Order: sequence, then C-alpha cells, then structure tokens
Amino acid sequence: MDSIHALLIAPSTPETQQLGELLTDSSTVRFRIDSVEHMDQALARLRTTRPDIAFLDTAVPGGQGPDDFCRLQNAFAGLPVIVLAGVDDLCSAAQTVQCGAHSYLVKSELDGEALIRHVRHAVRRRRAEADEFRSPMFHLAQQQFLKAAQLMRLDDNIRERLLHPQRTLVVTLPFRRDDYRHVETVIGYRVQHVLTMGPTKGGIRYHEDVDLGEVSAMAMWMTWKCALMHLPFGGAKGGVRIDPTALSRAEKQRLTRRYTMEIIDMIGPERDIPAPDMGTNEQVMAWLMDTYSQQVGRAVPAVVTGKPVVLGGSQGRKEATGRGLVFAIQEAAQHLRMKLDQSTAVVQGFGNVGSHAARFLAELGTRVLAVSDVSGALYHPQGLPIDAVSEYVEQHGSLKGCTLGERLTNQEMLELPCDILVPAALQDQITKENAERIQCKLLAEGANGPTTLEADEILDRRGVFVIPDILGNAGGVTVSYFEWVQDTQNLTWTLDEINDRLHTIMAGAFQRVLNHAQGDSIDVRTAALIEGIDRVAKAKLIRGLFP
Ligand code: GLU
Repeated sequence: MDSIHALLIAPSTPETQQLGELLTDSSTVRFRIDSVEHMDQALARLRTTRPDIAFLDTAVPGGQGPDDFCRLQNAFAGLPVIVLAGVDDLCSAAQTVQCGAHSYLVKSELDGEALIRHVRHAVRRRRAEADEFRSPMFHLAQQQFLKAAQLMRLDDNIRERLLHPQRTLVVTLPFRRDDYRHVETVIGYRVQHVLTMGPTKGGIRYHEDVDLGEVSAMAMWMTWKCALMHLPFGGAKGGVRIDPTALSRAEKQRLTRRYTMEIIDMIGPERDIPAPDMGTNEQVMAWLMDTYSQQVGRAVPAVVTGKPVVLGGSQGRKEATGRGLVFAIQEAAQHLRMKLDQSTAVVQGFGNVGSHAARFLAELGTRVLAVSDVSGALYHPQGLPIDAVSEYVEQHGSLKGCTLGERLTNQEMLELPCDILVPAALQDQITKENAERIQCKLLAEGANGPTTLEADEILDRRGVFVIPDILGNAGGVTVSYFEWVQDTQNLTWTLDEINDRLHTIMAGAFQRVLNHAQGDSIDVRTAALIEGIDRVAKAKLIRGLFP
C-alpha cells in the first residue's frame, strides 16, 4: 500500500475534519496527516519536514490568496498543492491553480474515492517530474493544458492520461568525428504523446539544450496542433542534444543515420513520421529516409516529410510554416480591421519560419521594420529590403555584418512599436519581464512556446491579439500531411493546389478558434487548446479502454 505524508493547512472546521477522515479511512493509501491552522505555521513546518503533498484552504488564517502557493513553493520548491475552496472562493482557487497548484477541490463536494485518486495523481506526477520531466517548457505545456482542461471540465481520467506522453525513448548514440580518432556520444529522444488519432507526427530538433521535458512539451503541442487542424495524427517529437552548427556535413550525416537506427522501431509511415524542426532540414530528412529505406530494403518516402521534392517531398513544404502563419495573420488582420499594406511588422528569427514569414508579409505590402537571428537584430525604420537581407544571409550564413539596417539587441527589437510581432525563434521569449513593454497589436507565434503563462495574462489584459503557436505555426505540419498523403497515394499536387488547400485549412481553423474564443469569452490560446483537446478526448472516449 502507498504511504503519503500530507500537510493540511486549514482552519479547524467540520469540513476540515471530514477531509482528514476521508484520507485516513482510505483502504488503498496510508496517510500521515500533519495539520496546521495558520499559514505561518505551515511555512515553519516546511523548514523541517518534506511532505508529499499539501492541502491549502483558501480561508486559512494568515493567508494571502493565490500568493500563498508561491510562499509554499519558496519554502519547498515542487511541493504539489491541492487547494480547498468554498463555493464563493472558486475564482481565487482557479488563480492559484494557474500559478501552478495541482488542482482545487470544493470543500462541500468532497468525495472519498475521487479525492484519493486526485492525491495519488498529484504525488505521482510530482515524482515523475522530479525524475525525468523537470523542464520549464514541459511545465508551460502542462500548465496550458491544465488551464484549458479545467475550463472545459475535461474528464478527470482523460486529463491524467494526456498530461504525460504515452511513449518516450531516450537513447545514447555515438558518432565518429571527421578526424576518425574521436567518438562523440550524445543523447537523443523520440517521444509520442498520443497514439489514439492515427500515426504520430512531429519534427526532429538538433539543439544543445534539448531534453526529455522539452521534447515532451513539443510532442504534446503537436497533438493539440494536429487535432486543431483536423489532421489524422497524434503528436510526437524527437531531438538530439547537440549544437548542429559545430558539426561538419559528414558528421551530421553520420549522427543522423545512427540516430535513425536507434529510433527505427518507433518510426514508419503508418507509425510515426518525423519532419524537420530547429537545427534540421531537407537534407537531414533525406538521410533519415535513406537509412530507413536501406533497412527495410525498398524506398519508403512516406517515412518522413519535409524531404527534398526529388525524393517525394511536397511542393511548398519548405515555406509552409511561414506561409501558413501569414494566412493566419491575414485572417486576424481582417478581424482586427488592420490593413496589412499599411502595417508594420517585426520578425524574431530568420530561419525557415521567420525568413519566409517576413518575405510573404513584405509581398503583401507590410513594412518589415526588423528581423533577427542569433547574431542580433537588424532594423530599418522605413522597412528592410527582405529579399536583399535573405540573399545576404544565404551568402554569409547569418545577419552578422549586414549593413542593410541598424543593429539592435534582441530585447530592443522585441519592444519596438509595430503592428505585428512574429516570434519565430526560440521558446520563452515573451515573459513577465518584457510583456508590459511589448508594443504590437497582433502577436503571431511562429515558434513553439515563445510566450509564458504570466506573459499571456499581461498581453490579454493589454488587449494584444495572440495567434497562438499551435495555430500560427500549424502550416508546416499541414503541408507535411499533404506530403504524406501524396507519398502514400502515389500522386502529386501542384504548388497552387497545395497553397489553396493550406489556405482553406488555416482560415477554417482560425475562424473555429475565433468563434470559440468569442462565444466563451476566453483568450484565443485557450480556445485553440480546447478545440484540440476536445477532439482528442472525444476520440479516446469513443475508442474506449483496452482491455
Ligand atoms: N516541426 C514542425 C512543427 O513543430 C513540423 C512538424 C511536421 O511537419 O511533422 O510543427
């Protein structure tokens, strides 16, 4: 039988007593309950004990509302907290959950079995996180999910099921350096979040900071993204913890082939279909496809998407994420009554997403005031000549040394006054530190996870319209889907057909999300998440539970 040490922080009332009894009466879990009646006593207790879980009553003497959660975290970081609320207190309880508490329970509606299940989930989740998933990005993905789950009153069991990925594979793999003397060993991952919807789908990232939590967060976002766009895939993601810019072409090829071999049992055209992400490209996908095909003894183009057109890649896939983002921006501009040919934009990141988004915006007459990459930002108050900037980057590898505009730091650039801000680089860019100073009307997310939860609230309060990542950057996986369909059906579509289909799907998803957000008076990100989560939850319920 499990044993759980619980700290009960609540005034002494009949309800508190009932909670204590429900816990001690459990036949499946043995509870050791430590009760305190004042917040100060709780904080003092945490200096000497390390409980598995805390129950925090919103009416505890000495309490300060949602801040109490942070005070508990300061005393014992990572302590899972379940909030106990009265029916009049639900708002404050919900805010505490948004700050990171596990969940809240209504005191007058306590149910023995549900309570024990709740506590076990909270404690298990904490233990698993501490072991493997401790990552700010995974925390962000989970908190976004929990916020949406709570608003949509998602079934408890499904919520727990979706909170962690269904399958994760962690591998270590060696590859030979070009001097043929050194062998480097690196860590790689492939994570499949949900296997309910069809094969799983998602990119492979090469980056020195990749970890299991980050890959899991992105796999979870892929699930919501595919469901939101009505694509028949669950979410997946992969990654190798390495800086690809420090590798020669031959080293990258050896690394890719070995990584493919390590994950080969997990992938396949009907199983899990990788694609490019940060640090990988068409060439990497070609090596992956070749390695897989060599193993099975025939050419299998459908095992990856985002590969070169000569190998069965799709027209328009390379620029699809940028193009899809600009389709979404056009829809948002219409809703906000903004004229794109009289608007200004700032684009953070000049990789595959940012450079194409900047180009398509410029083609619509938008003045792109600034763009950036790892070397910093380039700014021109009249708008940059995007084609010339792209040419420079193609020749020199980055914006470094480019004199087509003034140099700014990344932070200065994010805070420039503009109509449209496009974060298309890394996660965690718009935070509570800079959200008050962001000056755009429309934030169009090309990157995955560029905005933190706290920043979301600030932007919402300030009336900034957000096209959230799972909608904004969904053009990539949508054209990946077209590529997979063409490969598996042995047919090809023209660029116009691809772009028309992409436009229809992006515009449809945008309108669904907008209607949902307006109808329920919720922010656009939460509406997009709920659209995606709801589809997955329905599919899970209809499929039923095996065995
Ligand atoms: N890596 C891209 C994303 O985050 C594309 C995934 C795919 O095409 O499967 O959406």
